[in-house]
Amino acid sequence: MIIVMRIGAPEEEVDAIVKQIESSGATAHIDHGSERTIIGIRSARHDLDESMFRLLPGVEDVKRISKPYKLASREFHPANTEFNVGGMEIGGKKIALMAGPCSVESEEQIVEVAKAVKAAGATCLRGGAFKPRSSPYAFQGLGEEGLKYMQTAGKVAGLPVVTEVMRIDQIDMVCKYADILQVGARNMQNYDLLKELGRIGKPVFLKRGMAAMLEDLLMSAEYLLAGGCEQVILCERGIRTFETATRNTMDIASVAVIKRFSHLPIVIDPSHAAGTVEYVASLALGAVAAGADGLMIEVHPNPKCAKSDGQQSLTPPQFAELVQRLKRVAEAIDREV
Ligand code: PEP
Ligand code: MN
Repeated sequence: MIIVMRIGAPEEEVDAIVKQIESSGATAHIDHGSERTIIGIRSARHDLDESMFRLLPGVEDVKRISKPYKLASREFHPANTEFNVGGMEIGGKKIALMAGPCSVESEEQIVEVAKAVKAAGATCLRGGAFKPRSSPYAFQGLGEEGLKYMQTAGKVAGLPVVTEVMRIDQIDMVCKYADILQVGARNMQNYDLLKELGRIGKPVFLKRGMAAMLEDLLMSAEYLLAGGCEQVILCERGIRTFETATRNTMDIASVAVIKRFSHLPIVIDPSHAAGTVEYVASLALGAVAAGADGLMIEVHPNPKCAKSDGQQSLTPPQFAELVQRLKRVAEAIDREV
């Protein structure tokens, strides 16, 4: 951290700041310039808060040099985090393909999708049993019944399953049925939920909030890692911008930025970014070309009758065709689908 003093700040003000720095266990390095003094702070502590210096007399500005997250940072963990969940590899050469309906609607529906996406090349089954809907009148998910169908479908197809948990009191139940717990965009900053999820020892799929910066996403991942969860998968699902042609704006740069600053795998969800079937393939192909570690794609056997997000759901044949195209892009960048 660097403290920039106001021009002409008296020596007493500099001394007071140095005392404050030393009392927090850090060391101060003073540089008396011709116009102003600059104080560098060296500390092993990651929780040193810049706001404690900002209001001190004589301070012009405080700049943080190191990132506010530690465990999620590439500085702390230079190699990519790679792991295997129920047969799905993530973070390495192989690109994870998570596919399935927005909502689990019935046992037949989810088993049918599971078999179809597995045959097409998916490595994980997705589906929501607890749905965060914008309208309280919209389908809210089948709850535990949906989780049971999801688990059955995963077993039938031989795929691990990922599903959303919305509240702390749902964690134990969801853990009984799911291999990976999804934190949705609306809950990315539900820190109490993240703290609990950190403790349970299951992989967590953390979606970026629709108005969250990438640093916010990494701070949320830090909660999980600090709690003891090592298997965190980040997901870019589009953010809110002034553009309304797509449901959200897919931030393709998130892949490069996350790779630069973090060791955690990053997955792109082109379905919630596009919001329309027509754009899903293009965003998915771009995501793989950009270096994403996986995709999460909504697939429904009969999108017209879907209880949620039918407008952005591919049919199983559309998904199978897309996988063939993804294979070619992956090969071009020395990855595998
Ligand atoms: C979902 O995956 O179906 C979902 C609700 O996603 P998000 O939290 O990104 O809106
Ligand atoms: Mn959805």
